[in-house]
Amino acid sequence: MTSSPELVDNQTHGLVCAHHHLYSALARGMPAPPKTPTGFVEILEQVWWRLDRALDEDTIYWSAKLGALEALESGCTAVIDHHESPNAIDGSLSIIADACAEVGVRVSCSYGVTDRHGAEGAKQGLAENDRFLSEGGRGYVGIHAAFTCSDDTLAAAADIAKRHGVGVHIHVAEGEADAGAADRIRDLTNHKWLLVHGVHLADDHGLEGTIVHNPRSNMNNQVGYARPTRFTNPTGLGTDGIGADMFDEFRIAYVKLREHDVTETPDTAAGMLATNTTLFREVEQDRITWNYRPVDPWRLAFTPAVRPSRIERDGVVIYDAGTFVDIDADEIRAKAAEAALRLFAKLDEIA
Ligand SMILES: [Zn+2]
Repeated sequence: MTSSPELVDNQTHGLVCAHHHLYSALARGMPAPPKTPTGFVEILEQVWWRLDRALDEDTIYWSAKLGALEALESGCTAVIDHHESPNAIDGSLSIIADACAEVGVRVSCSYGVTDRHGAEGAKQGLAENDRFLSEGGRGYVGIHAAFTCSDDTLAAAADIAKRHGVGVHIHVAEGEADAGAADRIRDLTNHKWLLVHGVHLADDHGLEGTIVHNPRSNMNNQVGYARPTRFTNPTGLGTDGIGADMFDEFRIAYVKLREHDVTETPDTAAGMLATNTTLFREVEQDRITWNYRPVDPWRLAFTPAVRPSRIERDGVVIYDAGTFVDIDADEIRAKAAEAALRLFAKLDEIA
């Protein structure tokens, strides 16, 4: 918002979601877990780690396509995605990249490696990151989180990233279960890494990289507040899979900051969106015209439901007056809804 001085009034460049899980787009409406989770790790075990096991190539495709469509509708033209589908690993990142390309959303992909499914599962995840990057895909090497990985897996992921000249995209100290993450990865990180959450990091954690703050997700999982202003690292903003409406997440980031420190201003949260832009510079070629003016942090913080009225990608109008120019959005939504029913049926079979 403030990073491109030529953009004024009711226009900005494209927004970036610095941490997304496109595979969660079909999760809305999913059957309730067998028992009510009472904490963060139980939420992972009973909701997300069942969902990711139920994903196949078809549901990966339709969740990515629906998630990308909804990102664009919110003026988000670039998504940094973190993916896991332990029963459909090979080729999964290309399915996501293709689905996003078909909608017109820029994407950076990563497969979140983990030892949750044994050493073979970790190996397949590492290989998928390597394959995708070797074939010229844009991305990071993904790691689920240190607490579900062996030291060997962490080191192998860091090595692959170094070889490809990219960073590692990893959840760090999101919950107390991962509070020891910093000690495990301190010797591996560099400025290209994306350190997601950081809720339970010490102020002087010593990790290099960009921290990605996800305030709504953190509240939803009751993991605590990251207090992101205490870090010296650059800090961006993600949704952790709850859509890609970055103005909405900006408002939540602001009001949470304000709850913590009443002297805070929306400029701090706007600075996180500006950090996001540095992670995906191509969005500066995209121009969003908003249905509200002026797009200014203080006004935005108190104006819900600001939406794009027009989107230009690389100089081409792809969305105008609330309608996509070349995409049949109704068809994508209908097919994604059918895929969601197949996913829910599969979920019912997973204990
Ligand atoms: Zn996440």
